[in-house]
Amino acid sequence: MSLQRLPMRLESLERVTVRDCLKAARLPRLESQLLLAHVLGVSRTWLIAHDDAELESQQARHYLQLCAKRELGQPVAYLLGQREFMGLMLEVNPAVLIPRPETELIVTHVLEQIDAQAPVTILDLGTGSGAIAIALAKACPAAVVFATDVSAQALAVAQSNAQRHEVPITLLQGSWFDALIGLDCPKFDAIVSNPPYIAKDDDHLLQPELRCEPAIALTDGGDGLGAYRSILASAARYLKPGGLVCVEHGFEQAPAVSGLFRQAGFSDVMTLPDLAGLPRVTAGSYNSEIR
Ligand code: GLN
Repeated sequence: MSLQRLPMRLESLERVTVRDCLKAARLPRLESQLLLAHVLGVSRTWLIAHDDAELESQQARHYLQLCAKRELGQPVAYLLGQREFMGLMLEVNPAVLIPRPETELIVTHVLEQIDAQAPVTILDLGTGSGAIAIALAKACPAAVVFATDVSAQALAVAQSNAQRHEVPITLLQGSWFDALIGLDCPKFDAIVSNPPYIAKDDDHLLQPELRCEPAIALTDGGDGLGAYRSILASAARYLKPGGLVCVEHGFEQAPAVSGLFRQAGFSDVMTLPDLAGLPRVTAGSYNSEIR
């Protein structure tokens, strides 16, 4: 029985098969498979091998609801409640930005610059789901990792992800370095951040998927460079001599962000391309006398 021919009254969904479900969705195949696999609690491989399997009507209803939400622009990651980052499955919800592949560049660059076996100290500012901090903590078992966020709801997600991956991370609430005020925290070998960097009048913010993500994680409400100014104004005070700052930015922001690094006294400033060849991450080290 084809779902397309069924009345829209969801209660009447009976004897619907995996094949019917996948055929009925007006979505890319991968997305409908991910949603159906989630509803049934099975893998995509299982779906492919069992396209005659019948769903409970409750499952069919749930699947159709997810498809409808997806068609309206809700990101797949929020519908599934999870997204993979650096091989780690992370819980996500609309309180946090969905981890993106380009952000993995921060993690790989920092891992190239530090001794992953040493007790390095790392700070992730605006951690959101905890993606960067957790991936670094996982790769550096002796590291001391601090992560901050202004949003208590985001910190709850980061906490749950840190527990899920069994990494000890100190989570602190506050805007950028304000979260560390009054704390006896160490100086850091590396400070990392994927801050909000979309300018407030950028049309990109109107895309349906971005509209589902927290605005506070996407835009600074100004020219898109506000977070870098805040972070770079104070970073030197929190870094060990020779310490590294590594941030993600938009593909057109590399010259401006590199300029802010140099103005703040950083050297060895370099920008790294993402997999599409776009300049998306800038890093620099602070070698001068600490102010
Ligand atoms: N990478 C996101 C996007 O352009 C923005 C994330 C951010 O502002 N940190 O869709």
